[in-house]
Amino acid sequence: MTKKDEITKINTLISKCKKCDLWKSRRHPVAGSGSLDAEIFFIGEAPGRNEDIQGEPFVGKAGKILDELLASINIKRDEVYISNILKCRPPNNRDPFKHEIQQCKPFLDKQLEVIKPKLIIPLGNFATSYILEKNGFKHENIGQVHGKLFTTHTIYGETKIIPMYHPAVAVYNPNYKKLLLKDMASLKKTLSY
Ligand code: URA
Repeated sequence: MTKKDEITKINTLISKCKKCDLWKSRRHPVAGSGSLDAEIFFIGEAPGRNEDIQGEPFVGKAGKILDELLASINIKRDEVYISNILKCRPPNNRDPFKHEIQQCKPFLDKQLEVIKPKLIIPLGNFATSYILEKNGFKHENIGQVHGKLFTTHTIYGETKIIPMYHPAVAVYNPNYKKLLLKDMASLKKTLSY
């Protein structure tokens, strides 16, 4: 199967998924988007209001910040892959429940397996704890690990992980934007090694 076939298959499974209750309140599931040959895979938390309406990840205010961050290192959105821990919007943007993450994670795992990124960027606490723990690292708080480089060996080879704050924290706080821009600069450096 080609990467395109595999991603189409995952997207179809996501669109029919009823493993947790979130399908009842969502308008559209948000599977993910971007290049199937992306070297960088960003993982957010869950779709928000705008993403739920459009069926695309990071199209609201946090998405605007993500676009600025990408532009700061001259990377275009269609060169990376972007998805979330949860594929359906939790009502009122509440935090994901543990059982929702458990039921949804096979989709993300499969997306990573198909895309085979060199660098995974989990955004915020939920994505960071999922990715770090899955790869055998301890995670306490995004404040302690953001911008740090973790190297892991997956079934498709060596992969690096750099956790970052969730772009939503920078919407109203320029200090977080500065930290995010700094972490993006280390991402760029890591890619060029
Ligand atoms: N926040 C997320 O975590 N993901 C999105 O897709 C949008 C906002």
